[in-house]
Amino acid sequence: MSHEIRTPMNGIIGMTSLLLETELSAEQRQFAEVVRNSSENLLSLINDILDFSKIEAGHLSLEEIDFDLRTTVEDAVEMFAVRAHEKNLELACFIAPEVPSLLIGDPGRLRQILVNLVGNAVKFTQKGEVVVVVSVDHENEAEAVLRFRVRDTGIGISSEGISRLFSLFTQVDGSTTRKYGGTGLGLAISRQLATLLGGKIDVTSVEGQGSEFWFTARLKKQTQADADALTSMADIRGIRILVVDDHAVNRLLVASLLTSWGCDFSEAEDGRTALQMLQQAAGEGRPFKLALLDMQMPEMDGRELSEHIKADPAIKTTRLILLTSLGQRGDAQWIKESGFAGYLTKPIRQSQLHDCLAIVAGMAADVVAQTLVTRHRVAETLRRNVRILLVEDNYTNQEVAMTILHKLGYQADLAGNGIEALVALEQQFYNLVLMDCQMPQMDGFEAARVIRSGRRKVLNSRIPIIAMTANAMQGDRERCLEAGMDDYIAKPVQPKDLIEKLSLWLSNENITRKPENKYAVKAAAKDEEMVIFAEDELKERMMQDLSLVRHIVKAFYSDTPQHFSELKKAIREGRLEDARRLVHGIKGSSANIAARAMQNAALDLETQIKENKVELLDEKFAQLENQFSVLTSALREGGYF
Ligand code: ADP
Repeated sequence: MSHEIRTPMNGIIGMTSLLLETELSAEQRQFAEVVRNSSENLLSLINDILDFSKIEAGHLSLEEIDFDLRTTVEDAVEMFAVRAHEKNLELACFIAPEVPSLLIGDPGRLRQILVNLVGNAVKFTQKGEVVVVVSVDHENEAEAVLRFRVRDTGIGISSEGISRLFSLFTQVDGSTTRKYGGTGLGLAISRQLATLLGGKIDVTSVEGQGSEFWFTARLKKQTQADADALTSMADIRGIRILVVDDHAVNRLLVASLLTSWGCDFSEAEDGRTALQMLQQAAGEGRPFKLALLDMQMPEMDGRELSEHIKADPAIKTTRLILLTSLGQRGDAQWIKESGFAGYLTKPIRQSQLHDCLAIVAGMAADVVAQTLVTRHRVAETLRRNVRILLVEDNYTNQEVAMTILHKLGYQADLAGNGIEALVALEQQFYNLVLMDCQMPQMDGFEAARVIRSGRRKVLNSRIPIIAMTANAMQGDRERCLEAGMDDYIAKPVQPKDLIEKLSLWLSNENITRKPENKYAVKAAAKDEEMVIFAEDELKERMMQDLSLVRHIVKAFYSDTPQHFSELKKAIREGRLEDARRLVHGIKGSSANIAARAMQNAALDLETQIKENKVELLDEKFAQLENQFSVLTSALREGGYF
């Protein structure tokens, strides 16, 4: 029934949003906004009730997929970053280093509980902090019981309130709804989910001082063999791929990505055609290595098509990836059983699709049948493909840092001083160096200078180098940067700091063999103007200095949003000269960071203003705004924020 209920709700919300985009009087706008807010609340209530009844009826089955705990928890917490910031709350997340990252279970449900608890904590806290801590309760070879704690310094709950907390539709007192909204369903659902996950949930709280909600979950650990099977990623240039989707727009989107990655692909608009094409290609001795199947197609859906393919010996070796927008729970099982090697949900993220293709193409033949590559697996594989060199002479520090790196799923090697480090860097390709500063024989400063100088045959002389300094004093930091290092971290190394720096410096690294420009989404294959972000061009201009590139991008975001709102106002008020000046500036700064599509949209608007085409300005402005948000998500995906 869920679909039947959600569809009209989406209609109401969608249409109200469109209505709000039109010319309305202040009063009409207010009414429409109330409609939208109320329907959004109603939809989330419906979602909760549907979820709840599904669990009650025992219809909720849990996924059993490989996932990366750190990514899951961090993503969930990050959802509240903006809200916490607006309320001036400190929001922090700490995952103890001994917590295993590579697990098997249902990340979606885990995330749902976290979202509930963190959402409540942020909602009921006016000042102070919300802290999420993950630790290990028990652990053995095969599984771990993890404890998740969400602590806040908010309004707290009375002891009498606590007794009613986890029951259906209960809020601690009637005034809560009026003041904070909510339905009293979140905790009841969370309790059921925690039970399903083999754990418990509870709270301790002092009224007026804050609360700590915690829950536990039993999760299986991935075996080393599981993880190792997936570390190789293929180069997907020139690889043969068949795209099967009944929607032309979806095919166009995927096709433009595959073109930019240099794949050799064909398209089919239904299952029957796809089968013919697969058979023909196999007959000609040019079989498709991969096929991307859309789930929802008329006549023969993705599942049925996969069954036909797997039943035909001539074509069954083609590796299948399913794209679904259903996002149904408990999917993984049948998807794997139907013979798929990979599965992604729409909307597709460029980098996810790329990496998923590379992983599925790179798997050994015997692994394909047992593995399902999901977005979680993609994140984890990326980590496993990262190789870090730790340069450190002190034994204790070596132990601490190596343990953290391995726990996080990275590959790491050790060098005892600068000389050993140079040798290692000549023999092996690394993605990042963690460099101690004071070491015998050759210290970190000297080693960094040599790496940058190009005097030695280091395989990656632009490699990010993060200094580890005992006395993180001003002078020391400057010395590190002067020696050519990129960043620094204080000793003793804290896992949290290390994780932060690694994600900052590795997210944009060439971990997979990406093509020249991974942001090149092109409507028509060769349309240069459509490049969202010409990253390589910008890097080239900045002499490959990544910190400079980041700096420029940051500068761009420090004033562009402001210019947008001024521009919007100028257009609305008909001050064309001001509007022209502003859009001219936006065009210039887009060019500066090599955001070509946005630069072109700005040029377009500027031209219309110059020619006084007032009737076109709103539309052109909307296009420019749209390019700005496309750019922002591309940069976010590229790890710039
Ligand atoms: P909702 O938040 O939708 O009302 P929940 O089941 O998530 O439903 O929460 C039930 C009630 O528990 C809330 O209305 C609130 O009174 C209380 N509560 C939950 N979390 C907190 C918290 N972190 N601090 C104070 N009160 C809380």
